[in-house]
Amino acid sequence: MADIVGEVWRIAEECGFSHIGELMVDTIKLRIEARQGCEVNKCGHYGKSWSCPPACGTLEDCDARLRKYKRGLLLQSTGQMEDSFDYEAIEGTSRKHGECFDILRNRLHENYRDVFLIGGVCRQCGKCSYPDAPCRFPEKTSYSMEGLGMIVSEVCKDNNIPYYYGPNTITFIGAVLLD
Ligand code: SF4
Repeated sequence: MADIVGEVWRIAEECGFSHIGELMVDTIKLRIEARQGCEVNKCGHYGKSWSCPPACGTLEDCDARLRKYKRGLLLQSTGQMEDSFDYEAIEGTSRKHGECFDILRNRLHENYRDVFLIGGVCRQCGKCSYPDAPCRFPEKTSYSMEGLGMIVSEVCKDNNIPYYYGPNTITFIGAVLLD
């Protein structure tokens, strides 16, 4: 059987991510500090989605879900800014990263039954059903690295993939767990 990580790496390249690296799940440490960052709610998604804290579960719950997998890919989208206030470039890179993930999700959903998508807060539905009704598409839900409890820079470092690509660059990072 062909190696799933190699297959999905090729698919991810076609989806348009700028950098891809292999992710070993046993390197991932979930940290309470990441959760505390979520609770500040700078992103505005805390308590608004099944895919974010507190609905995505405790760190122990998340750890148990991640440990079902051994390997995956780190997926990055890097954009160039004119300066650190170039919000247009930041938003554009974020949007492109989300679009790459949407394409990846659809392609993986066609061919692979059991993948765990960590592409940021789930955007499957116009409005998440949380907390009034169950998740509509649990097999397609995406989670955020921070929401699961990961310190993104640490995960990159522990898997030998850069987190920072130089002055006036912005990088959005996600992952997919595969086997
Ligand atoms: S699939 Fe829909 S209901 Fe489920 S987490 Fe995503 S946005 Fe919410």
